[in-house]
Amino acid sequence: MKVVIVGGGIGGLTTALMLHQAGIEVQVYESVPEVKPAGVGINLLPHAVKRLAGLGLPQDLYDVAIPTETLTFFNKFGQQIWSEPRGLGAGYRWPQFSIHRGELQVILHKTAVARLGQENVRTGHHFENYENRADGIVAQFRDTANQRLVQVKADVLIGADGIHSTVRERIHPGEGPPVWSGIVMWRATTEMEPFMGGRAMIMAGTPPHKFVCYPISTEAEKQGRSLVNWIADIRVGGPSPYKREDWSQRANMETVLKYFEGWKFDWLDIPTLVSKATTVWEYPLMDREPFARWTDGRATLLGDAAHPMYPMGSNGSSQAILDAEAITAALLAEPGVEKALERYESERRPATAGVVLANRQSGPERVMKLADDLAPQGFDDIDKVIPHAERQSIADDYKRLAGFDIATVNAD
Ligand SMILES: Cc1cc2nc3c(=O)[nH]c(=O)nc-3n(C[C@H](O)[C@H](O)[C@H](O)COP(=O)(O)OP(=O)(O)OC[C@H]3O[C@@H](n4cnc5c(N)ncnc54)[C@H](O)[C@@H]3O)c2cc1C
Repeated sequence: MKVVIVGGGIGGLTTALMLHQAGIEVQVYESVPEVKPAGVGINLLPHAVKRLAGLGLPQDLYDVAIPTETLTFFNKFGQQIWSEPRGLGAGYRWPQFSIHRGELQVILHKTAVARLGQENVRTGHHFENYENRADGIVAQFRDTANQRLVQVKADVLIGADGIHSTVRERIHPGEGPPVWSGIVMWRATTEMEPFMGGRAMIMAGTPPHKFVCYPISTEAEKQGRSLVNWIADIRVGGPSPYKREDWSQRANMETVLKYFEGWKFDWLDIPTLVSKATTVWEYPLMDREPFARWTDGRATLLGDAAHPMYPMGSNGSSQAILDAEAITAALLAEPGVEKALERYESERRPATAGVVLANRQSGPERVMKLADDLAPQGFDDIDKVIPHAERQSIADDYKRLAGFDIATVNAD
């Protein structure tokens, strides 16, 4: 059995490491010529960290990532709606890590090169097409250094090539670009004094006028500082001004500041945090309709290529890591490729479609929307606005849906 993976992002590299650990021959083909730390912060939830622990990676993660201890929702007046412990403090056997996406990718890439060999983790190879044959699948890549076409034969092709997946386009020609929600996200990092104890994730406001932030670096923590990743979401509406969502589009800080004037709370001064950012990146909030089929013969999809989702509930990377485990298990369990891909898809497609749809309704952030609808001028007592049991059930329901309720994660 030989598997070819298109895309050396979070999902593709994790899948490669899992397949290799299972004794399956695997090669990764990544489009960019060099893997550099791109992006800003992301979260790995305990169910994903559990899977990475199976690959022996948590120490590398502990070296760079913040084990997030609390998640707290506030309204736009800075009043607390809901707070819960996260990761180990919540009783999980694995932490929740807040980490720079690029650092995570570099850890995975280095580990893949060390374990699989450089020759099996190729960069500068841009996927163009595939052909299903009776005895295998042939993938075509463009070598970006010399523009030569490279053909690779395998038993299975996994498209882990992100939200603009070419593999997806080949499986479903004519689907078109991702769908813009009308919401713009601005993302940046700011170095500052720690807030709320230094390992807190907060969300303030209401979707879609919301501010999210959390620290992501142990390096800063060792100096008594926090490198805080922040995301500001605003609905601007209208027709999409974006040709394509792009992680490297810069934005003007003043644009963000005007939406958060006066958001100075005793637990955090948001305008100061925004104004001290290094570079602000602009990114349109997009996803795609869940599909009825991920697989075509020996080709299938994984991660954002299969189920791009709004980043509500911190699930994008974690769901890609769950896909990686599921496809490895299916390829080990089933004698034929067809049956294995059917098994993988039937497990993961409905599960991830549920998360995509829940995230369109703001996922666990629904509680902020509810508080804003019921008490637009703020409240004296949140229990009188939304009873504790209802807030608890919003939090619990989302965890169950996305597969990280504590009983499921802690079970062996
Ligand atoms: C540059 C970049 C920055 C990001 N920054 C953030 C961030 O700050 N916060 C956040 O929450 N999420 C970010 N994401 C998205 C996040 O990584 C994913 O939502 C999540 O981790 C799922 O991972 P994935 O492996 O499915 O997709 P991705 O991590 O997007 O990986 C897809 C990979 O496929 C490669 N690729 C694309 N097309 C081809 C092709 N034709 N042939 C070969 N390779 C191809 C890409 O270069 C990329 O390395 C970013 C993604 C990218 C690509």
